[in-house]
Amino acid sequence: MSILIKDVLAVLEKGDGLAVEETSIYIENDTITDIGDAGRSADTVIDGRNKLAIPGLINNHTHAYMTLFRNYADDLPFSRWLFDKILPAEDGLAPGDSYWGTMLGIMEMIKTGTTCFTDMYIYINETSRAVDETGIRACLSRGLVGSGDDEGGRRRLNEAKSEIEYWKGKANDRISFIAAPHAPYSCDDRFLLKVMDFAKENNLGINIHLSESRNETAEIYDKYKCTPTELLDRLGVFELNTLAAHCVHLTDTDIDILADKRVNVVTCPVSNLKLGNGTAPIAKLAERGVNVCLGTDGAASNNMLNMFKELQFVTLIHKGKEEKADVISAEEGLRFATSNAAKALGLGDRIGKIKTGYKADIAILDIDKPQYYPRNNLLSALAYSTCGDEVSTVIVDGKILMKDNEFMTIDSEKVKYNINKIADRLLK
Ligand SMILES: [Zn+2]
Repeated sequence: MSILIKDVLAVLEKGDGLAVEETSIYIENDTITDIGDAGRSADTVIDGRNKLAIPGLINNHTHAYMTLFRNYADDLPFSRWLFDKILPAEDGLAPGDSYWGTMLGIMEMIKTGTTCFTDMYIYINETSRAVDETGIRACLSRGLVGSGDDEGGRRRLNEAKSEIEYWKGKANDRISFIAAPHAPYSCDDRFLLKVMDFAKENNLGINIHLSESRNETAEIYDKYKCTPTELLDRLGVFELNTLAAHCVHLTDTDIDILADKRVNVVTCPVSNLKLGNGTAPIAKLAERGVNVCLGTDGAASNNMLNMFKELQFVTLIHKGKEEKADVISAEEGLRFATSNAAKALGLGDRIGKIKTGYKADIAILDIDKPQYYPRNNLLSALAYSTCGDEVSTVIVDGKILMKDNEFMTIDSEKVKYNINKIADRLLK
C-alpha cells in the first residue's frame, strides 16, 4: 500500500528547528519513504493544495474512558471532584463501558489530529481493544493503586502483567505499555517499590501523577517529611524512564531533581486550571532542559481531548504568568506535543516528525479557512489560530483513519448510541 500526499504545505525538520515548506510526502506501508518527489505513482493520492500536513499530535497524559464523565462534575474543588463524584461514578462502571468511553475518546482525538496517546485506566483489555480496532497508536497502562502487599494492589499488578503478555507483538506494534503507579498519595512507598520491580522485570517505564495539588504535597509532607518529587527520587523511581504528569507544585529542589534525573514532565494546563490546582512552572523546567510534553488529562477535568486547545493554553498561560511574551513559543509548544512526547515514550526515532524513515503518523489540516489567512507564519497559526476542527484527514502507521472528515475505522453512530446508554444508566 502506498499513499502520496501531493503538493502540500508540511511542517518539516530544518536544522534544529521546524519549518513549513511546500512538498510531497510518499508513504509505503507504515513508513514515510520519500519527501519531495510529487511525480511518484501511488495507490492513494491525496490532493494537498490548501492543506497543511503536521506530525500527528501525541497526547502524553489522558484517561480516554473518562469521556463518559464529561461535564458531569464541574466547578468543584479537586478533592470533592475526585472523591465525591468521579471515584463513586467509576465504581458503577460495568465491563465494556470503558471500551465505549475509550472509543469516544479516540474519535475526538483523531478528529483533532492526535495520532498517539498515553493512557492510564482501570479496566484492562478494553483500551487496547479500542486501539487495535481503530488503528490509532498508544502507550497503555493499568492504573495501579495499593499499599504494602495488599491484595488489591497485587491483583492490579497481575492484571497489568497479563494484559501486556496478551498484547505483545499484536496490532503491528502500535501498542506499547508503561507501568502506572497512580500517584504518591494513592500508592504507599512499599507498593511503589513493588511497582518498580514489576517495571524492571517487564522493561517498562513509569507513568505517574506527581505534585498535582497542594493537598497532595501537604499529605506527602505529613507522612514522609519530604515533597512528592523527593519521595520518588529517594525510592529510586527516576532511575527508570518516567513520565510525570502535572508537576504543578514544585520546589526549586524538585526542579533540580527532575532536571538531573531527566524526568519527562507532562503538563496538562487545562486540567490544572479547571480543577483549581494552579499552573506548573513550565518555563523554568524548559529552561533547565527538562523534556516537557503535553497532555489533556481525562475529559472529566478538561473537558476535551483536543491537543490544539492544550497547545494554545500552554503557549499563552506561561507568558502571562512569567510576564514575558517570549517564553514557550509556538514552535516549542508544538515540540511538546510531537517530538518531545515521542522521546519520552522511547519512540523519538520513529514518531513525532515528518521525516523519511519515520512512521507515517500525519494529520492533514484544511487551511482554506478565514483564520488561516494571510499565511504569515503557519507554526504560529498552529498554536494561536487553530481550533482543531481544521483537521480533515488523519493517517496512523500508514493507514488512513479519517478521510475528508469521515472515520474509516469507527462506526461513530454506534459509539454515540452506546455512550448515551451508559451515561443514562451510570450518571442519572
Ligand atoms: Zn491523570
